[in-house]
Amino acid sequence: MAEPVDHDVVVVGGGPVGLMTACELALAGVRVAVVERRTEVDPTIKAIGLHIPSVEAFQRRGLLPALLDAQRRQAQELLAALPRRADLARVPVSSDIAGHFAGLTVPRSLVDYADPDFGAAWSRDMMPVSQQALEAILSERAAALGAELRQGAEMVKFADDGDGVDVELDSGERWRCAWLVGADGGRSAVRRGAGFDFPGTDPEITGHQAVVEFADPEVLTPGWNRTGNGVYVYTPLPGRILTVEMDGPPPDRTAPVTLAELQDSVRRVSGTGVTITKVRSATRFTDHARQASTYVRGRVVLAGDAAHVHSPFGGQGLNLGLGDALNLGWKLAATVRGWAPAGLLDTYTRERHPVGAWVLDWTRAQIALMRLDPLTESLRRIVGDLIATPSGATYTAKQLSGVLQKYDLPGDHPLVGCSAPDPGGHVAEALQSGKAVVTGPAGAGAARADRLVHVESDRPMLVRPDGYVAWAAEDPGDTAGLEEALRRWLGGS
Ligand SMILES: Cc1cc2nc3c(=O)[nH]c(=O)nc-3n(C[C@H](O)[C@H](O)[C@H](O)COP(=O)(O)OP(=O)(O)OC[C@H]3O[C@@H](n4cnc5c(N)ncnc54)[C@H](O)[C@@H]3O)c2cc1C
Repeated sequence: MAEPVDHDVVVVGGGPVGLMTACELALAGVRVAVVERRTEVDPTIKAIGLHIPSVEAFQRRGLLPALLDAQRRQAQELLAALPRRADLARVPVSSDIAGHFAGLTVPRSLVDYADPDFGAAWSRDMMPVSQQALEAILSERAAALGAELRQGAEMVKFADDGDGVDVELDSGERWRCAWLVGADGGRSAVRRGAGFDFPGTDPEITGHQAVVEFADPEVLTPGWNRTGNGVYVYTPLPGRILTVEMDGPPPDRTAPVTLAELQDSVRRVSGTGVTITKVRSATRFTDHARQASTYVRGRVVLAGDAAHVHSPFGGQGLNLGLGDALNLGWKLAATVRGWAPAGLLDTYTRERHPVGAWVLDWTRAQIALMRLDPLTESLRRIVGDLIATPSGATYTAKQLSGVLQKYDLPGDHPLVGCSAPDPGGHVAEALQSGKAVVTGPAGAGAARADRLVHVESDRPMLVRPDGYVAWAAEDPGDTAGLEEALRRWLGGS
């Protein structure tokens, strides 16, 4: 007989991805604990916004009002912190930017937002919400749903014996769980401990991102600057500086970033003698690009940065990790609760690995375009020209916003594998239950009421709990293939 468990799932890492995974599991009635070594919020500026699939995911869990609230608060804080008028006058204001690729601007005025790929999207734009605000929202929700959040606790050891996983915390406490999720970031101890392969490419840059006060900010040029020594991006509000130097990775990635190190980097890249008087937060990054070949090994599962690392260019990492959490949550919950059809958990790697591989490509290509040699200059001019065409701008904006994200699922209908179109918001409302949704005439799928919610509609679809279409038909009366899809994704009735 299997040993009893203390928790169905233990999630190592209470960053955004660990928290989102815990929310999804708890919503599905799974007993989940999150172990997070930090006791305080990490103030470093990292992700600053959510792409369309992430915003849709929040909407489908009833968290859109919380996001909008956070966005409003952030805007108010920014206004309250407005610095000297002189700085304000130097803030480059342009509404004609839909994003950038390696610093090459995507002109918003050229993007065709009538393109059908944008059609189903909730919004066209990134929603500006800080990673810290997001973590606060998710942490509150995870606790409200009954997840146990253990802050100030470090996972130091674990062993998977095939029937379950024994986990040891730095306090000496031991837990047994059925599944262990490693959402413990890029240097994941779970990934290493479980022996996951992590192939990829070595870093060639050293990047810094910080919020600082300068004694003489006027010597810097706001916006994206490419110099003979690298790249620097200066945003006077809120004093954000990013530098990239192309001469190899830092000698020690774990050492704290000092004021002197930052100042030297800004001086070298900008070619100025600028002086930093105060560092509010700072981080160092590289373009190390690696991805686990599988995301599930035995009873150990990876999500977020633990499964893939890459440079932050393109603002994809957090959004990618949230997508992992959404895809994984209901599948792992179904496995724990015993109704998962055979092979359901395998579809997690199958669906998410290609999305991660694309992000690695997208970020590597940007590093390649940031190199400082004359050949790269020529390539930049050509790529820049392409991006500044209507089709180039539309392609790049679609990639940046995530609307092209689609899973390769069985089924012929063009909607299968896409995020569910939901003009009236009824599907999103039904998805708040964490269950799958079947739309169409009443009665469809009634036998699986514990896993499935019905929404009256003349567009027949089966929408998985993560919001992706698993089956669809044109004719409201057509249910051919529905039972097979229900069995494939939700198991027998
Ligand atoms: C400079 C920079 C800018 C970025 N900008 C963007 C952006 O614009 N858009 C975007 O989408 N992404 C961006 N990212 C990426 C984004 O920040 C990450 O992808 C995101 O933080 C990943 O979340 P995570 O939960 O997987 O990992 P993390 O946020 O790293 O969380 C992992 C957590 O695990 C905890 N932990 C680790 N080991 C243990 C252990 N043994 N026991 C207990 N706890 C442990 C850590 O304390 C940490 O809190 C940026 C990253 C950087 C560095």
